[in-house]
Amino acid sequence: AAGNTNKLIEQTEKYGARNYHPLPIVISSAEGVWVEDPEGNKYMDMLSAYSAVNQGHRHPKIIQALKDQADRVTLTSRAFHNDKLGPWYEKVSTLANKEMVLPMNTGAEAVETAFKAARRWGYDVKGISDDQAEIIACNGNFHGRTMTAVSLSSDPEYKRGFGPMLPGIKLIPYGDLEALKAAITPNTAAFLIEPIQGEAGIVIPPEGFMKAAYQLCKDNNVLFIADEIQAGLARTGKMFASEWEEIEPDMYILGKALGGGVFPISCVVANKDILGVFNPGSHGSTFGGNPMACAVSIAALDVLIDEKLAEKSQELGEYFISKLKDIKNPMIKDVRGRGLFIGVELDQPARKYCEELKGHGLLCKETHDTVIRFAPPLVITKEELDWAIERIHKVLG
Ligand code: PLP
Repeated sequence: AAGNTNKLIEQTEKYGARNYHPLPIVISSAEGVWVEDPEGNKYMDMLSAYSAVNQGHRHPKIIQALKDQADRVTLTSRAFHNDKLGPWYEKVSTLANKEMVLPMNTGAEAVETAFKAARRWGYDVKGISDDQAEIIACNGNFHGRTMTAVSLSSDPEYKRGFGPMLPGIKLIPYGDLEALKAAITPNTAAFLIEPIQGEAGIVIPPEGFMKAAYQLCKDNNVLFIADEIQAGLARTGKMFASEWEEIEPDMYILGKALGGGVFPISCVVANKDILGVFNPGSHGSTFGGNPMACAVSIAALDVLIDEKLAEKSQELGEYFISKLKDIKNPMIKDVRGRGLFIGVELDQPARKYCEELKGHGLLCKETHDTVIRFAPPLVITKEELDWAIERIHKVLG
């Protein structure tokens, strides 16, 4: 790799908008759970690009799919059909046990899509009066950075200076069934929830909440939408995090690992009575459903299934959590997680410890100030996990 770390960071900070505050490390190559800087130092990735590389960096089968497709056709737009979209639709639809799929590129765009679908369903199917549809979301949510997503947010820093916000949104405390009951009106089109809140710091709702909320939505003809962009696709030890409470949401929103960390692709999956509300001209994306993304995504899903990454995540996650709970340190307030989707909450800012962990060869990122998130690629071996645990004990022990 050309250039050295300091120069590259300087250049990045000189010309780039300052909407991120990365750890001072430059990654110039990667494989599996390992990444390398320009000086040749190796680190273990404990973030997996916010769960976009569940399959590990540059999984050979996914890279092969990318190369093969690059030699055929990369973009057709949806003005024409392409030969990868149909096979990908069938794969995603079968996996989620739903009738229809709508492809986009990033997570936030898929959230936009779900939001539009829910509103139009509210008018066309449920019969809500024009412009009266309401969507209920949860405090602490993270659904992305577009205007719809920041309008949904309860975090003032995500919204400051970006008003006016989108109307028709109500927020309830995460996991509060009574609040959901009180918020539902005849104008409610949908309830949108992350089955586990990732950016909020790996927050798991009280047991039984998801199931009861789903039932409440059914009773009131309200769509139940699960944003599984971060928690879905094997991350929590199940293919979909909603499976932890044995529910099948009306709509899944997927992204991140759907493209195996190789190519951006996202989607909304639902039955015809919901996604059927879109007609030609009502929604779309130039790159949505492009053959490159579809070919990569088919391989990415095959890897999740063939390598049993959900089962692996569950097994190694239990082991990892038990080892983290062994650490005796009064500054640790909580260790929680499902599968390899784990948060360690401290009684103080976590950034300093992330920097120390980096010194020991582990790349972690603090979330919501006081939580260290441990979410390695799911292809991690038990030996590699033990290597990490040893170093975490050194820093937090
Ligand atoms: N929804 C959830 C639950 C997420 O975690 C994220 C990203 O972190 C998004 C939506 C937004 O995805 P993207 O950054 O691809 O727009």
